[in-house]
Amino acid sequence: MICKTILNILLCHIIDTEVVALNKTSEIICQAYAESRKALLENEAKTICAEYNIPVTKFKLAKTVKESIEAAQQIGFPVVLKIVSPDIIHKSDSGGVMLNLKNVNNVKNAFNEIMDNVKRYNEKARILGVLVQEMAPSSIEVIIGAVKDPQFGQTLMFGLGGIFVEILKDVTFRVAPILKEDASEMINEIKAYPLLKGYRNTPPADIDALTMLLVNTSGLIMENPEIKELDLNPVIVYERGLKVVDTRIILE
Ligand code: ADP
Ligand code: MG
Repeated sequence: MICKTILNILLCHIIDTEVVALNKTSEIICQAYAESRKALLENEAKTICAEYNIPVTKFKLAKTVKESIEAAQQIGFPVVLKIVSPDIIHKSDSGGVMLNLKNVNNVKNAFNEIMDNVKRYNEKARILGVLVQEMAPSSIEVIIGAVKDPQFGQTLMFGLGGIFVEILKDVTFRVAPILKEDASEMINEIKAYPLLKGYRNTPPADIDALTMLLVNTSGLIMENPEIKELDLNPVIVYERGLKVVDTRIILE
């Protein structure tokens, strides 16, 4: 593990001379270390997830109202706008998340509102722009977390979103790496599993997609020991497929 970190730091030093072509994940991690940032930006964390076949919402970084509108038109309405700032970790607390924007006018107003809210919340925050992204339709929500435990190393957590995690603490843990069978067990053993299987008029959630998501997340944290914490929260799960709408990665 230490070797990988040292290798990355060495590679960071030679990036400028373009001696090596790094993969996107290493490049992003190097860049963050070079800027003394431990929390990755949402666009960086989502780019890393996408490299590990984790389905994230389509996104585009925009610096101006004009760029936001162009991005929204490319992605397709409705869209979501979110603040991108190295100084803001909890984006909705700062008034930095605007959902379900249906047209050009909504996007324009949301951009200006986010800038006002965030400046009021933290006048010193460095603002890099907004992340324009597809608005994922609502469905059942789950959470995947990973932390590097001092004793056990990379550990995965899985549970249903909202009150299931926060109040009922209905979650399950495994030390990574995990196999498909372990992922299936994790999904099966939470108390809320019957909700994933479908009930009354609610269709079943795509358990296979969820299994692969856990396995791919395990791969991501095992291959990148610099990652101290990772949160996919929430992940919206459909009858077919799923979408990760927010991603947080903290480096050591
Ligand atoms: P925070 O940094 O506050 O956790 P999030 O990115 O999680 O910000 O956004 C807050 C909430 O907005 C999410 O929990 C989710 O309910 C909703 N949300 C965020 N992004 C999307 C999206 N692309 N599609 C649908 N809902 C979203
Ligand atoms: Mg979130």
